[in-house]
Parts: sequence; C-alpha cells; structure tokens
Amino acid sequence: MDDPSNAAGAAPASRIRTRILILGGGFGGITTARQLERLLGSDASVEITLISRENFFLFTPMLHEVAASDVDITHIVNPIRKVLRHTNLFVGEVESIDLDARRIVASHGLSRHQHEFQYDHLVLGLGAVTSFHGIPDLQAHALQMKSLADAIVLRNRLIENLEEADADCAADRRTTALTLVVAGGGFAGVETVAAANDFLRDSLPSYPHLSEEDLRVVLVHDGAVLLPELDEALGSYTETKLADYKVEVRTGVRVAGVSRTGVRLDDGMNIPTNTLVWTAGSAANPLIQTLPCKLERGHVMVTEYLEVPDWPNLWAVGDCASIRDPRTGNLYPPTAQHAMREGRVLARNIVASLRGGKKQPFVFTTIGTLASLGRRTGVARIFGTNFSGFPAWLLWRAIYLSKLPRFEKKLRVALDWLLDIVFSKDLVQFRAEIGPSAAYADDESAPGETEAPARTSAAGDRQADDAPLGRDREIASSDKLR
Ligand SMILES: Cc1cc2nc3c(=O)[nH]c(=O)nc-3n(C[C@H](O)[C@H](O)[C@H](O)COP(=O)(O)OP(=O)(O)OC[C@H]3O[C@@H](n4cnc5c(N)ncnc54)[C@H](O)[C@@H]3O)c2cc1C
Repeated sequence: MDDPSNAAGAAPASRIRTRILILGGGFGGITTARQLERLLGSDASVEITLISRENFFLFTPMLHEVAASDVDITHIVNPIRKVLRHTNLFVGEVESIDLDARRIVASHGLSRHQHEFQYDHLVLGLGAVTSFHGIPDLQAHALQMKSLADAIVLRNRLIENLEEADADCAADRRTTALTLVVAGGGFAGVETVAAANDFLRDSLPSYPHLSEEDLRVVLVHDGAVLLPELDEALGSYTETKLADYKVEVRTGVRVAGVSRTGVRLDDGMNIPTNTLVWTAGSAANPLIQTLPCKLERGHVMVTEYLEVPDWPNLWAVGDCASIRDPRTGNLYPPTAQHAMREGRVLARNIVASLRGGKKQPFVFTTIGTLASLGRRTGVARIFGTNFSGFPAWLLWRAIYLSKLPRFEKKLRVALDWLLDIVFSKDLVQFRAEIGPSAAYADDESAPGETEAPARTSAAGDRQADDAPLGRDREIASSDKLR
C-alpha cells in the first residue's frame, strides 16, 4: 500500500496541521472543495484532498443532451483539475472507510493498487446509486442514466438500433430494435424520453427504409401524474405534450419483468424492445451503508450544520446525506441545487471549526425546478410561478447554461445549440473498440497480403443471441481498453 502523502502532489507534511479529505467529485464534493479554497486562500497549514472515481465533474442536468446528440460528449464535463486549483486530486475508487482509525483506502491505476489516506476532517459526498427494486434481471438488461458512460451507451444503442433496423435482414427484429422504453416519470425519465424521442425521429431521414410508424417510444411511470416534483398542472401538461410528440405515456403501471426481448408491465402488457432505460429508482451508496454512524434509509444522518452526530469532524453533503430542514423537519430533496448550497455551508462550517467561528445551519428554499420536454418546449416552476412551452424551455437553457461551470464549456455548449439549428443530429457512434489488427504469418508478409483482419469485440457489435441487453455488454468491451 502506498503512502498517501505522495499520492496527489501533497505539500510538505511539516507545514500541514489539518488534512481535509473530501470523498466524491460531484456537486456536493466539488462545491465544498471550491468554497474551502476560497475561504482558506493560501493557508499552507491546511491541506485539501479530493478523491473521485472520475477526473471530471459531470453536469447531470444536461446528461440527456449527450444521449440525444444535442451536445458533444465532453462539453458537459469539466476536468476537476481545471475547476479546483489548490486541492490535491486523487482519481480512484474509494474502497473502504474506517471512521475509528480515520483511514480511507482507495485504489487506482491499471493495477488497481491501493493507497491509504489519513484525515482530520472527512467530507462524505459519494452521492447515490441506481436501485433496481429487486426486479428480476433488471440490472442485467436495463440501461441507466446516471453517469457520462450511461449517456454514451444509450446514444450508441439508439444509433445501433437504427442502423440494424434499416437493413433487410432485420425485418423480424425491427419492432424490438425500434421500440424504446423509459421507466420513471421524474425529471431524469421525462427528459431522457423526450430527448431520445426527438433524436430518433429527427434521424429518420438518414434511414431510407424506416418511417415514423416504425418507431415506438414509451414512458412508464408508476404514479398518476408525471413529474411529481412539480405541480399537477405541469405534470398533466407534460403528459399532453409528450403524447403530441408521439411518446406513449403509461401512468399508474410498473415494470414487472424484463427479458432480452421485452419489458413486462404489471398491468399485463408486454412491450417488445431491446432497450429499457431505468430511471425509476435511487438508493444510498453501498459504501455509506457500511458505516457505523447513524443512517436513515442508508443515508448519513447529519445535524443542521451538516455534521455527523457522535463523530467529530465527520461531515456529509448531497445525495448520500439525510438532511432535514430545521424549519419544517422535512428532508431536503436530493438535487444538485441543494448539494451545491450544502457544500458552501459545509465548507464555512469546517473553517469555523478550524478557526473558532460560529457555525451556520443549512436552511434553503428551492428556487425553482425545470424540465426540458423536447421540441423546444419545457416546464418550470420558479419562485412558485409556473411556466410552460417555449418560455420554459428557454429558461431551462438559460439557467442551466449559466450554472455549467467554466466559460469554455458554456461557450462549447452554446455553440452546439446554435449549430443544432442549422445542422441535423450527428449520428456518429462512439465505439469503444480497439482498431482492426492483423497477425502476420511471418515478418515478410506485407499489409494487404494477409487474410482478413481480426476485429476485437466492439461496443457496437451485433448482439449475439445470448448477450445481455444492458450496459454490461458495452462496458465489457470498453474495459478491454484499460
Ligand atoms: C439524469 C439526471 C438528471 C438530473 N437533473 C437534475 C437537475 O436538472 N437539477 C438538479 O438540481 N438535480 C438534478 N439531478 C440530481 C443531481 O445530479 C444530484 O442531486 C447531484 O448530483 C447530487 O450531488 P452529489 O455530490 O451528492 O452526488 P454526485 O453528483 O452523484 O457525486 C457523487 C460523486 O461520488 C463519486 N463516487 C461515488 N462512489 C465513489 C467511490 N466508491 N469512489 C470514488 N468516487 C465515488 C461519483 O463518481 C461522483 O463523482 C439529476 C440527476 C440525474 C441522474
């Protein structure tokens, strides 16, 4: 196991009195680190280290835009090293958290070797994971919509299905290939189905053998009204608009089972499809569930100051934390909007505890919620006022563009959107495959004289009959690149 002080460009140990360790490079972790950098300035006695699985910060509100080819893959992510200038970054997987010994073990590199980190203050910002609610085979067969890889895999799948369905040989598989089912009528599900629907329909002119009638896009939601986070009127508006855009909305039903070739709903309906996107469940990060501190449904319980009771100098932020509004006693919702504000308060409270100041409780009232419904329409509720249609869509774009970190990425996304007005959707697949290679019988053989080149397995390769439908297949091939 390696010495952590060598791991992330740390300052000389003699000058450091306090080590602040942040786990997770999402909204909560990054905002905490950024605010600490601002508040601590050039204080060399404090060392901030952030451990994150990825070396980038993902702006999740625009994830569906990557899946639907509205923006380029890298435009909604920012390298953490460019966002945080004075924080040591360790890109790797947190493997274990020992609160008694104040020790974290994380692994990284091709060999997945381990490093150990000691800390004086620990911030837990590990977010949440997808929950499959114990539905048989769902994890193996469904795609998810949580990470950048998920969006890339979905985009590839949509394009691969169009390519296959356009060929003569696919006559008997055309229905399953051209049916997309999205489960979950919350923000992630609605925005994903809307964007994917636009993408599929806008792509049809490039596929001469396919027509609008071949496409079936279904949204399955277990509640009565879509977007329960908003009010009922906006939920009903959303349903009407999606229906106008030819999305089949099925409310009040759940996914009961899934197989390689279809989805079964609990009202008895079977939908032939090879693509189910599951956005209908979220669960606490499994690492958090191993901790001995107080948990509430798997999330770390914190005080109004975002401290973990009974564990001095342990803090939690964002989706992995269970944070109550001190005014009402209700739980704050797991949103980026909240995680960022929590991160700022948490950083101030760490500094207060280091320098002897007064800690501040986390009190926040949601400013607004917005969703994009495709075809330049949206819904929004801001300061209690409802917006819908084009104005809401415009608000969505303006607000999220302003929230996207760094001017460079804002400009890139704005240009993508501008160019989208002129050009049609990009249909290029991002295939995670190693290029064709040839094995020569002897060194004298020249290219072109050998047998057909051998191809490695590819993310976009035609699916074998027994291959899983889920992203495991795609990821398995990209793993080969490591
Ligand atoms: C598709 C989608 C759309 C959304 N849209 C909106 C929206 O429009 N508005 C809004 O307010 N909210 C939105 N959200 C919710 C928002 O993304 C979350 O509430 C927010 O990301 C929570 O921030 P966090 O820091 O707690 O967790 P995250 O942002 O999820 O960050 C957790 C971090 O921890 C890392 N991590 C986890 N486990 C490990 C490990 N073992 N080792 C190393 N690193 C690890 C992850 O890689 C990640 O970097 C959306 C979410 C999704 C999935």
